[in-house]
Amino acid sequence: MTDSTPAAPSSPALLETDEHRALRAAVRSLGSRYGRRYFTDVVDAGGHTDELWADAAKAGYLGVNLPEEYGGGGGGIAELSIVLEELGVAGCPLLMLVVSPAICGTVIARFGTEEQKREWLPGLADGSRKMAFGITEPDAGSNSHRITTTARRDGTDWVLTGRKVFVSGVDIAQATLIVGRTEDARTGKLKPCLFIVPRDAPGFGRSQIDMELAAPEKQFELVLDDVRLPAEALVGDEDAGLLQLFAGLNPERIMTAAFALGMARYALAQAVDYARTRQVWKQPIGAHQAIAHPLAQAHIDIELARLMTQRAAHLYDAGDDMGAGEAANMAKYAAGEAAVRAVDQAVHTLGGNGLTREYGLASMVTAARVARIAPVSREMILNYVSHQSLGLPKSY
Ligand SMILES: Cc1cc2nc3c(=O)[nH]c(=O)nc-3n(C[C@H](O)[C@H](O)[C@H](O)COP(=O)(O)OP(=O)(O)OC[C@H]3O[C@@H](n4cnc5c(N)ncnc54)[C@H](O)[C@@H]3O)c2cc1C
Repeated sequence: MTDSTPAAPSSPALLETDEHRALRAAVRSLGSRYGRRYFTDVVDAGGHTDELWADAAKAGYLGVNLPEEYGGGGGGIAELSIVLEELGVAGCPLLMLVVSPAICGTVIARFGTEEQKREWLPGLADGSRKMAFGITEPDAGSNSHRITTTARRDGTDWVLTGRKVFVSGVDIAQATLIVGRTEDARTGKLKPCLFIVPRDAPGFGRSQIDMELAAPEKQFELVLDDVRLPAEALVGDEDAGLLQLFAGLNPERIMTAAFALGMARYALAQAVDYARTRQVWKQPIGAHQAIAHPLAQAHIDIELARLMTQRAAHLYDAGDDMGAGEAANMAKYAAGEAAVRAVDQAVHTLGGNGLTREYGLASMVTAARVARIAPVSREMILNYVSHQSLGLPKSY
């Protein structure tokens, strides 16, 4: 395998401007200087994609969605999702882009205090700092209404207790944005709240989960054992936690769609390239419809998912949180499914080579499945669409 990734089939994007297309081309060019081999070498060595991260930061790509006055590019999720998708097309999907600038950067930029913005946004924008995001809990899983990580007041401080699981990149992030709950003084009910927890805060323990996933970002189980935080650790308004949470979750879904689409386009390009030249009968294998049609189907699925992803990003950047919610869920669903099918078909198209390390596709089978499970599973999106879009009753 060479690092000169074959051109990924792609249609002109309906909602994209000339600037967007120029951004795609520039990111693609940076990504192709690294390529799949760089990424798999880093994973094999148990390292991180620091060089690529630094180069992307230098070019201004990592903070392209963050406000200019805090060192960002002044763009939106549309631009950041282009960065992630194109790095994926080059074989280097950077999961931390979903978490650090997209979720945490967005939440702080929209709801943080002036001090929090000044402290965090310039570092998130120039890539010198990262922030992880922890919502999933072992006993709550997909039912995030059931999370029990609790913050209680002690004087002006907050004290957090609880557990989180599958939180990505905690080891390489200076802090984690933790979703906890505080008690409503009036009703006694628990309501969601967001806290910035520094990596070295006393009582904040982490252990790495042994994942069968070839990715530079590791997943962690976290224990918060009376983690004491100053009042300024609370992000935004204590009474508007849910709204603030959703402000971060829509970008998360849009970015996960971009993450999946980058991988899908990379895999499809490899398969198409192989099918054009691999010949075991009279014609290259790509002439057999049993090979060509599933690849064509994968291309259609990818392009449809890209349209919905662009629509979701467009709505989100236009300030339509409700409209973006439905589109972001649908985009994540469509992109996750497109990626799982495209990667599976790509591996199959390469025959035995699909399972070799040289072609680097087999490890994508697991990576593509992440987009079906996280941050919200395929079934939970189907539930959302059943209830929210179609008005069907709930079974749970
Ligand atoms: C690689 C990776 C990285 C991750 N990174 C992060 C991170 O950075 N931060 C973070 O907070 N979390 C992270 N997660 C966690 C991820 O968001 C959860 O795995 C996901 O939300 C699903 O929760 P669960 O694993 O507990 O599955 P469960 O909730 O136990 O679900 C198991 C299965 O049951 C199905 N199911 C559950 N409820 C229903 C229902 N009502 N109807 C139909 N089907 C249902 C699900 O669809 C799924 O197939 C990550 C996960 C992975 C794999």
